[in-house]
Amino acid sequence: MSKHHRRLIRHCRVRPGTRVRLNQIDPVGTDLARFVLPGDAPLRARAEALLEHSRMELSIQQERLWASNTHSVLVILQGMDASGKDGTIKHVMSGVSPQGCEVHSFGVPSHEELSHNFLWRYSNRLPARGRIGLFNRSYYEEVLVVRVHPQLLATRFLPAPGKGGRVWRERFDDINAFERHLVRNGTVVLKFFLHLSRDEQRARLLKRIDTREKRWKFTSADVEERAYWDDYMSAYENMLSATSTRHAPWFIIPADDKHIARASVAATLSGTIASLPLHLPLASSVEHRRLAQLRAKLLRT
Ligand code: ATP
Ligand code: MG
Repeated sequence: MSKHHRRLIRHCRVRPGTRVRLNQIDPVGTDLARFVLPGDAPLRARAEALLEHSRMELSIQQERLWASNTHSVLVILQGMDASGKDGTIKHVMSGVSPQGCEVHSFGVPSHEELSHNFLWRYSNRLPARGRIGLFNRSYYEEVLVVRVHPQLLATRFLPAPGKGGRVWRERFDDINAFERHLVRNGTVVLKFFLHLSRDEQRARLLKRIDTREKRWKFTSADVEERAYWDDYMSAYENMLSATSTRHAPWFIIPADDKHIARASVAATLSGTIASLPLHLPLASSVEHRRLAQLRAKLLRT
């Protein structure tokens, strides 16, 4: 792992047990630019260079992941509307073979999904060994949107609906245990919170309305949910503080500048896979002899 990768990972990672205060974390990424993307070139060019380098690295690392067939990688992306989850997936993964990765986006759950435990629909979509799976939103919505709109809990058919505040603590415990189970079984779990400022969200939503080609992305719910901004920030702070663990850390990614956000996610992802103890299957001595015979045969035919 390069010096850049290490510094970036250290800078963005939420240390387990710390109390996250989002209003003390810069959504623009000025710090990140100073420490993680050093050099004299303009910031955008430096971010682009880091993204490009990380994309190439990721493509190589994905092949190692596939060949060793012992690990998988689960990438979770969370963030407010218009925080750039889709764009991040598109730009970070563009160099990776489509055979080696899969993206799952989760919207409002269906009746069938709500009839199961709250992790069910997500556990059905986990990446198999050798693959990188990306979740665009995830089971974390169950302690975010559902916490901000607690009336949604009534639609979850819980056995003890009167549990009140305890339900969030229990869900955090369940999520931590679930992720520990995944990690013990060879899945690397990386979680990215795209930290967007309220002003930048307004600018992006306005752009969705004002630009014809972007209008399809706009929904009235985007404007309505802005009224709950402070509640969301508080739910995010609780969630980040309770579920950033040594085995499955959260990374807070400054998202106001898309270039910095994409470069940071790509570098963290490629750097983490590069540091995994992946062992490529080596041919045995018998296979070596057989290989030599087959090679000679190939040369003759
Ligand atoms: P963008 O960031 O571009 O707006 P999006 O991720 O919001 O994209 P949408 O299809 O617009 O994609 O919205 C998905 C919606 O589904 C979100 O409002 C989210 O809160 C909601 N959702 C996701 N998971 C759950 C869940 N478990 N319970 C309730 N709502 C959920
Ligand atoms: Mg949306």
